[in-house]
Amino acid sequence: MQFARLFERVQEFAKSGVHKLRMVGLSTIHGVTLVIDLQDVTKTYRGGVQALRGVSLRVQSGEIFGLLGPNGAGKSTLVKIIMTVVRPTTLTGTVLGRPACTQEVLSQVGYLPEHHRFPQYLTGRQVIDFFGALAKVQRTERKARTEELLEMVGMRDWGNRRVTTYSKGMQQRIGIAAALINDPRLVVLDEPTDGVDPVGRREIRDMLLRIRAEGRTVLVNSHLLSEVEMLADRVAIINQGRTLAQGTIEELTHDSHRYEIDAINGPASIQTAVGEVTGMPSAAEPGLRTYVIPTRDPAVVQPAIDALRAAGITLTRVERARETLEDLFVRSVVDERGRAMPGAARGPGTPTAPPIVAPPRTPSTSTSSTSTPSTSTPSTEARP
Ligand code: ADP
Repeated sequence: MQFARLFERVQEFAKSGVHKLRMVGLSTIHGVTLVIDLQDVTKTYRGGVQALRGVSLRVQSGEIFGLLGPNGAGKSTLVKIIMTVVRPTTLTGTVLGRPACTQEVLSQVGYLPEHHRFPQYLTGRQVIDFFGALAKVQRTERKARTEELLEMVGMRDWGNRRVTTYSKGMQQRIGIAAALINDPRLVVLDEPTDGVDPVGRREIRDMLLRIRAEGRTVLVNSHLLSEVEMLADRVAIINQGRTLAQGTIEELTHDSHRYEIDAINGPASIQTAVGEVTGMPSAAEPGLRTYVIPTRDPAVVQPAIDALRAAGITLTRVERARETLEDLFVRSVVDERGRAMPGAARGPGTPTAPPIVAPPRTPSTSTSSTSTPSTSTPSTEARP
């Protein structure tokens, strides 16, 4: 009897939304609101594998954040810790303003796990509705929202087909819709474009931009660097359980700005305002040399161009360039590998360089407080 009364009171409490009031205290740094603010996350699995060795992650409200790293870096472990699926060995910090690993916040989180698989006898429409029911979204709201989400992910005309008939891209679209059914503030997507063709990938990118435009925060775990480069406001590069770099791509590649000059039969080196620059002979085009001048200032480059032209040398290209995300990724990971073996570490670990952490950008304005009191969309098991 007492248990029944307690159960009723818990239900009343859930309906009242009082618990939502306790979610408003998001942490801030330099005036920036942080949806995820984790420091010194470590995880040692049974058997001694140190999957995480002191990761820090700061995800700002209303941004798309890309979590990058080679296989075995610890990305999935970190995502699972955020989703409270894996218990960390040590951790400080908050998710949605609550101490990390508090399952209470999962009602405000949408999750698309990697390698998910839906119940095969359901249609796409039923899958979204089913996840809404699991998340305790009210039936009428669920129905309306399912239709909106089917439209948003471009699956309205396919919603009544069984998920077994879907391509990988269609399954991912339904997965993204299911992750949004509980109107989450934070959406965690593990490899959302995995196995999806280029057209489908572009459409998924557009969906993520729309999700951000709705004021939600998106954490994307992906190994497709060019895609993350197009999408993410900020990224973190993780390797061997540590954060190597964190910030906007512009911040992280700031020092890599350069001008490249291609010249036919140019001298072995040229003098520039920033020192002597050696011309690298082209393997593809005999006689062609490329000079790389490490500056973002066009004024610095002009005397070099003038000198080459005055010597009668033909220039075929002058281009301003900077590192791509892939360059940055390879540089960070290769530097790290110079000090330690690839993969996760066993034992006490090897010394590494301090991470490149850019300060937070200007305060974010978007916050979404329109969450639905419900449980999280749970993961399903492995995808085919
Ligand atoms: P990523 O997602 O970046 O590929 P993971 O987080 O999956 O990396 O794995 C990090 C390391 O932890 C890997 O060496 C992996 O083998 C190990 N690992 C992951 N899950 C477990 C587990 N349940 N038990 C033991 N080791 C694990």
